[in-house]
Amino acid sequence: MSQFHTDLVSDTVTRPSPGMLQAMTSAPTGDEQRGEDPTTRALCDRVAQMMGFDDAIFLPSGTMCNQIAFLVHCRPGDEIIAAGNAHIVRSEGAGAAALAGTQIHPVPTPTGIFTADDVASLIRAPRDRAPVTRLICIEQTTNSGGGAVWPIGTLSTLTQLARTKGLVTHMDGARLLNAVVASTKPASAHCAGFDSAWIDLSKGLGCPVGAVLAGSSDFIRQAWVWKHRLGGAMRQSGVLAAAGLYALDHNVDRLADDHENARLLAELLSDTLGIEVFPQGIETNILFLDISGTGRTTETINAALSASGVRLNAESPTRFRAVTHMDISRQQVRDAAKAIKDACAG
Ligand SMILES: *Cc1c(COP(=O)(O)O)cnc(C)c1O
Repeated sequence: MSQFHTDLVSDTVTRPSPGMLQAMTSAPTGDEQRGEDPTTRALCDRVAQMMGFDDAIFLPSGTMCNQIAFLVHCRPGDEIIAAGNAHIVRSEGAGAAALAGTQIHPVPTPTGIFTADDVASLIRAPRDRAPVTRLICIEQTTNSGGGAVWPIGTLSTLTQLARTKGLVTHMDGARLLNAVVASTKPASAHCAGFDSAWIDLSKGLGCPVGAVLAGSSDFIRQAWVWKHRLGGAMRQSGVLAAAGLYALDHNVDRLADDHENARLLAELLSDTLGIEVFPQGIETNILFLDISGTGRTTETINAALSASGVRLNAESPTRFRAVTHMDISRQQVRDAAKAIKDACAG
């Protein structure tokens, strides 16, 4: 268990619940590399269907989903259009460059959301010396944008533009199911028009490990080559896939509680001297606190908070991120808000 009673660092800190562990221990298994693990197969079929794609592939992490998608969709020298604060820009070891040989053309956007109009001028005309604009990548929900949900209309105008321009579209759906719950629109509606998309099992869904990447049959066949090549092919992965199936049955609707809790935390902190909470309207489970007005640093505040078992994610000396998840109750949010107020008051 996390050493912090109320760990708001990320939604990745959850423990598998007793029901999930039970599902894992009783899962039928086989050798996944040979396509013989029935539980992994069932998870992939279910996710592909849920997202409206032909097929899907089970991978160890969301990062590998993004990187394999780029490796399949792009060639060295290609360019990927993505938000400047996207996970693929900030937190994947420049894998798009290091592995797929691509460069990212960043779109400046504090919320992580951009429109077809914003990117139309970034799509390069073919010239011998210009990078080839190949792919548009979006994050649903936006992590650094404060859990913002792309409206389905914005997504569909973007995929239409991409199709007109001959570009590929990829959705980093680490928290797609948070968007599904917040929007009350099915995953397939969010993914419509995309060439590939994935969900993380190890974020709000509460699984210990795993992500599922979906796309056309041909895309998934090529993704399998990279999965083997990168060492992502597994053996009795049904133990992990069973956690994913359990999460899809039990842990999706409850994401609404996490969203409520994030809103409550924002509300409880909103009138605190020196703290600025954003984004303005919290849609899902992520919020940021700018604490510059307290005259203290995130390091000193986290140190003060540790006595009450609360931890926030220090993004910079003046900025925290807080993420709610299934191991955070409403009461813990109330207690954490009080502890944060006290720590900021010094
Ligand atoms: C967490 C995250 C990833 C990477 O997923 P891992 O499973 O941690 O590799 C990618 N994109 C976004 C938006 C994320 O939040």
